[in-house]
Amino acid sequence: MTTTLVNRIQLVEERIKQACERSGRSREEVKTIAVTKYVSIDATKDAVEHGLLHLGENRWQDAQAKWEEISGNAQAEAAGQPVWHFVGSLQTNKVKDVIGKFTYMHSLDRLSLAEAINKRAVQLGIVVPCFIQVNVSGEDSKHGIEPEQLYSFVEQLQQYESVQPIGLMTMAPFESEPEQTRSVFRALRELRDELLQRSPGSGSIIHLSMGMSNDFEIAIEEGATWIRLGTILVGKEEV
Ligand SMILES: *Cc1c(COP(=O)(O)O)cnc(C)c1O
Repeated sequence: MTTTLVNRIQLVEERIKQACERSGRSREEVKTIAVTKYVSIDATKDAVEHGLLHLGENRWQDAQAKWEEISGNAQAEAAGQPVWHFVGSLQTNKVKDVIGKFTYMHSLDRLSLAEAINKRAVQLGIVVPCFIQVNVSGEDSKHGIEPEQLYSFVEQLQQYESVQPIGLMTMAPFESEPEQTRSVFRALRELRDELLQRSPGSGSIIHLSMGMSNDFEIAIEEGATWIRLGTILVGKEEV
């Protein structure tokens, strides 16, 4: 198990490096989230012991036991401890469970959620770095706000002082030919660039959370600053 994980980490690292080189980017610009939703508590602890300190989960129900074992909080990153990223769509009634435990929110997709996060963050005295999820591909099944709504969404977010938008996130449709996801990633990057140019007050929205096991190299070539890797990095097992 351990050997396999070490091999996977090395393989992924090599591929990240090459994608950075191909696109003239520095390796430091790209950070990896190990998405542990398909693996056990032990495998998650193993990942942490091997230096994968950014952990991603998409459902609180599944994440809870792992979080209780490993723990985390808003200050974890500064302290060099495991940092949790919530990457799935979050129901408003789960905000109280997740905020304060998970440092980053990758799926901010509606104002009512921003309001709930803000309320909880104020109670806890923290600021929550959030990615705005954008439905670039236009698939009905995908969460996220429509690209056309982005400007007004960002503007309205300013009323929630403990919600700090730091970037955009998207999910590309699964393609057997990963190259076909390129236009989705490129569109997210262009949205970010336009936002930074046109909209004052959006200066903190610099990150791009995009790219999964099947397409992370393309996402890196198109500007990803956070890639979210499950299967290829920590594996997939019946839990
Ligand atoms: C599951 C998941 C991932 C990782 O998926 P893999 O294809 O296994 O790398 C990334 N992002 C989100 C939002 C996910 O739900």
